[in-house]
Amino acid sequence: MRVYNFSAGPGMLPIEVLNRVRAGLTDYDGSGMSVMEMSHRSKPYEKINAEVEALLRELMAIPDDYDVLFVQGGATNQFSAVPLNIGTVNRKADYVVTGNFAKNAFKEGAVHLDAACVASSEDKNFTYIPELNKSMFRADADYAHICYNNTIFGTRYLAAPDTAGVPLVADMSSMILSQEVNVSDFALIYAGAQKNVGPAGVTIVIVRHDLTERADPKCPVMLRYDNQVKNKSLYNTPPCFSTYVIMEVLRYLKELGGVSAMQKINERKAKKLYDYIDGSAFYSNPVQKQYRSLMNVPFVSPSKELDDLFVKQAAEHGLVSIKGHRLVGGMRASIYNAMPEAGIDALIEFMDDFKKHNSK
Ligand SMILES: *Cc1c(COP(=O)(O)O)cnc(C)c1O
Repeated sequence: MRVYNFSAGPGMLPIEVLNRVRAGLTDYDGSGMSVMEMSHRSKPYEKINAEVEALLRELMAIPDDYDVLFVQGGATNQFSAVPLNIGTVNRKADYVVTGNFAKNAFKEGAVHLDAACVASSEDKNFTYIPELNKSMFRADADYAHICYNNTIFGTRYLAAPDTAGVPLVADMSSMILSQEVNVSDFALIYAGAQKNVGPAGVTIVIVRHDLTERADPKCPVMLRYDNQVKNKSLYNTPPCFSTYVIMEVLRYLKELGGVSAMQKINERKAKKLYDYIDGSAFYSNPVQKQYRSLMNVPFVSPSKELDDLFVKQAAEHGLVSIKGHRLVGGMRASIYNAMPEAGIDALIEFMDDFKKHNSK
């Protein structure tokens, strides 16, 4: 039986994609082998590598002056790669701290350069996005870094902030391809694949080409954007199978109608769940309403004991990995692109039953 997996990552993959992968598992496209066994220098793999980039460019309408890279080490590796590649002119960068990953990016930035935290929402346990205006950013900062969707705390930006010309870098790990974004509002976007795009092992980097040409000479070769650009992300052996699954996810997303169609579905799914929580008088979500994430929905019941019981009984009903992050407690439903609307319906039905059985 397939369960509804509400994990924050890795997340679900569409069943249609898994079935296609299974169909080609032992003999991919007439090659007589699985993509797992395939040379990354072979013709069929070169085709996959080219198609995955072309599909992402099309789905996100990525302008031609941006490079698209598929690299390893997770989004976390980009916490180091960003300062080492683009924080090299004045060795200064500004960070907005809106959650745990944003804070880790800031801390790693501070290892390599003069990193400033220009705004934070830690005073209210990251339940909102601080108001930003362009005077907050240092005019000579090499970049400004934000985390667009805060996976643990369930907040998201409503738009790219105005940084008065300071190149804007965004960690989009938990929302890439879930809603439309204007790529040219950003100088660099990065995202681990395992939430919305495919299996773990691949990180997408979308970077304006001019920014790839100023790496620190001491930047490790695997982190250097110019090296990955020159080698079409094939400098060393890439995670071929993960990249191939991403290609199937992107094909599927295109058939579905692309990112705008996906966004409508995601908005409908999230609204259903938030509306139920808000109307329940039993569950609550701590986030300021306008900043609520479309992807990660934290909520609590009236007590810690009931939260624990909820997580246990939900799993027995095929609603798994719904325990909240330890920094927030309670529950968190991660409802990425691949979570079907039927999964939201099943969750709400369970929540309602649980409420009836446990209300005084
Ligand atoms: C999951 C996540 C990360 C960490 O990703 P890894 O690929 O595990 O390094 C970083 N930032 C955000 C916003 C995330 O959701």
